Amino acid sequence: MNLVNNHLRQPDDNHRGLECRTCGCKHFRVVYTRPCRGGQVSRRRECRHCGRRMTTRERVIG
Ligand SMILES: [Zn+2]
Repeated sequence: MNLVNNHLRQPDDNHRGLECRTCGCKHFRVVYTRPCRGGQVSRRRECRHCGRRMTTRERVIG
């Protein structure tokens, strides 16, 4: 598999290290954000490249 690995970082995407399992793309659009327990939020994200959706959990800072 020939993945193009560009190291572009977008300022609006602060969730680093997340990678699409389908295409390896690191750019995700947030579909919705939902608060959950422990000061965390659950984010539904959609890959900008292939459209695969996944849910991430992040801690809210500040
Ligand atoms: Zn993808």
